[in-house]
Amino acid sequence: MPFSEFGLEDGILRAIKKVGYVRPTPVQAAAIPKVMRGDDITAIAQTGTGKTAAFVLPMLHQLSLRKAENKLHGTLALILAPTRELAIQITESIHSYGRHLSIRVAAIYGGVDENSQIRAARKGANIIVATPGRLIDLLERHKLDFSRLEVLVLDEADRMLHMGFLPDIETIVAALPKRQRRQTLMFSATFPREVESLAKRFQHDPKRVQVGAKNNPAETVKQAIYEVPPHLKDAMLLALLKDETFTRVLVFVRMKDGANRLTEILRKEKISVTRLHSGRTQEKRQKALADFKQGAVRVLVATDLAARGIDIDGVSHVVNYDFPVNPEDYIHRIGRTGRAEHEGEAISFVPKGDLNLLGILEMAIGQRLPRKQLRGFDYYAKSPAIEAAPAKKDWRKRTREREVAKPQKPTARPPKAAAKKFPNSR
Ligand code: AMP
Repeated sequence: MPFSEFGLEDGILRAIKKVGYVRPTPVQAAAIPKVMRGDDITAIAQTGTGKTAAFVLPMLHQLSLRKAENKLHGTLALILAPTRELAIQITESIHSYGRHLSIRVAAIYGGVDENSQIRAARKGANIIVATPGRLIDLLERHKLDFSRLEVLVLDEADRMLHMGFLPDIETIVAALPKRQRRQTLMFSATFPREVESLAKRFQHDPKRVQVGAKNNPAETVKQAIYEVPPHLKDAMLLALLKDETFTRVLVFVRMKDGANRLTEILRKEKISVTRLHSGRTQEKRQKALADFKQGAVRVLVATDLAARGIDIDGVSHVVNYDFPVNPEDYIHRIGRTGRAEHEGEAISFVPKGDLNLLGILEMAIGQRLPRKQLRGFDYYAKSPAIEAAPAKKDWRKRTREREVAKPQKPTARPPKAAAKKFPNSR
């Protein structure tokens, strides 16, 4: 089905053509007709499936009809998203799809000065894209007017709940026109009970849109598990990065400190790298993302902050340096590659201590992930730290080993040493 069959306004069709979309993605084909009819929808769609356009295009269509009748006043649509980055990205998409329309958009998110955001909203923003924290702050201070609101979008609903935004969302929704008087569109990569309950309370007879199997990672991503002891993760990452097909690599770690440490290590090895985590200023976060998107750096080391919604074209590989704590995060992380039907690869490092998490993930997605071994990699090497501080009971043996195995820098092939076999490597 071509885009022209949705009955979208001509300016929108021209914009779509300009960005190069030839046909709708499955979630667009399923959702757009329902949204155009005015239905509430609950869409379960992986990231990277084109879901932003699925709600933005019909929204722009409705607003441009109003505009044509000279009846476009006030804020008619609110889009809530979990992170600043995603809010910015959605705003950019609205600008791009709405380039031929004069619809006003304001983005409201924390970490930057609020005054310009308030001004943009008050100047008559027809669409507001916001993160819940900053929005609630402005709402409580009566800086925003949602009395005319007609469309509410909850994007990445599961992620927002996971981040603890439920009370904020409840307060925001309570300040909007009643559900019978607005259209509520909910998008979520997974559909846990909490999201279901949100749908029941906030929506009015919603239609379900489901693309791909529930809770299943994007089908275009090749997945592999590398069982590796924690002290060899750096060496393994460096070994993988020797492969030139790793052109744009997103590496996920659990903690900010871990992101800083790993970035330093990669930098020392002359790998172009930047980092994205909540400990950095908004400006630095945006620069890191822009550098990575434009290909100015090859590797982006990120915490889960970057896992949701961020649209980065051509990520060749996602590496879970630290295994994600819950299956939802795994699905979102690997969804950063293989976007819009391009092939991608997701590699997860799983030390022995994380095998239980792997088991939980495999149960959740109903699939055993392929185990792989990196050819030529020494799984039995000791880490520099262990070499430097040998356990007392076999100090003599270790001292002998150190004499033969001097170089201590983690390399693709660390010095061989007679360590105990890592029990879970195959
Ligand atoms: P999203 O899931 O909305 O973040 O979109 C993921 C990527 O798919 C973005 O880079 C979009 O520009 C792209 N995209 C969205 N719709 C289409 C389409 N119909 N054809 C090709 N690419 C698309």
